This record gives sequence, structure tokens and C-alpha cells, in this order.
Amino acid sequence: MDPITHQMMSSNVEISSFTITTPASGGSGSSSMMGSPSGSSACSPTTLSRYENQKRRDWNTFGQYLRNHRPPLSLARCSGAHVLEFLRYLDQFGKTKVHTQLCPFFGHPNPPAPCPCPLRQAWGSLDALIGRLRAAYEENGGKPETNPFGARAVRLYLREVRDSQSKARGISYEKKKRKRPPPQQPAALALPPS
Ligand SMILES: [Zn+2]
Repeated sequence: MDPITHQMMSSNVEISSFTITTPASGGSGSSSMMGSPSGSSACSPTTLSRYENQKRRDWNTFGQYLRNHRPPLSLARCSGAHVLEFLRYLDQFGKTKVHTQLCPFFGHPNPPAPCPCPLRQAWGSLDALIGRLRAAYEENGGKPETNPFGARAVRLYLREVRDSQSKARGISYEKKKRKRPPPQQPAALALPPS
């Protein structure tokens, strides 16, 4: 037996209570809780382990971000402003086209042609991410009252992103509310007939 391997294994126990068994029986009717808004901590057992995995990955990503931060930044000194910095940093990996106000496709959900507008992280992704990091922070010993992910600035930022993306992309983020489409003005896009 290799003593090093043994040591690594024993020091690798992060969370010992990761033994969630999902019973195969029992009809859980509400398993479609994907992308639930931040703040709701109600998780059905069927989605828990996937959520937990994602949460751990997010927490590791944030830890890596802190380690690479210049000047060095410890978790204890992390504020809402740093969380905003992190969210803006993530935008470079985004895949969601967000039209600028100068773009002719501003407000179009399905633009007919490509445009040079930047790709960003979608609001829904950021919102869910913050929810997971907020939970992870407290599970890792952080106090709720100093939780940077629950900072007012972060909430306001997310709301701003939601509103601006909703306008720029011409979509509504109203949840589960099947609205009939609002009366639309005729689009003034003069396209030549083929
Ligand atoms: Zn555009």
C-alpha cells in the first residue's frame, strides 16, 4: 500500500455527507425546477446531486479566480464589488448575443443576419450561478451577513442585466406566465424580395 496515496485519499475528504440516495419509488411530480430563481432553497431530491456537483464546480472556479486575482484577494475580504468583477470577467466566455442599441437587431429575438454585437453570459446563467455560490459560501463557513453573493450591489446588477438583456434580445424573462404576444408594430425592415 502506497502511503502517499493513502494520505491523499484521507485528506481528500471534503464533505463526508455526500451520500444522497434517490429512491426509485415515489412519484416526485416537481422535478422541473431547473433555473429556479436565486433565493429559493427548495430542491427536490432528484435534482440535488446534479445541483451539488454544479455548485462545487462553481465554487472551485471562484476559488481559482481568487487565487489568480491581482492583487491577491482572500475570500474573507471579498465584497460584492469583487463578485461583480467576477461576473464581468465571465462575460468573455459567454455565448449569448446581446445587441447594442446601435445594432439594427436590437430588440429582435431572431435576427435574420449576423451582427458584430458582443457575446455575454445570459442573465439566467448568472442568476443561477450567484444562487449556487451564495449557498456554497455559507456551506463553507461564511456568515450570511457577510455573504458577498447576497450583497445588494449584486442583486441590483443582476436586475439590470436582466432588464437590459430582455430589451436587447427582445425576450421576456417572465417566468411561467404565458402571456399572449403584445400588439406589435409592423417591423420596418425593408428586405429586398430574394
Ligand atoms: Zn447585434
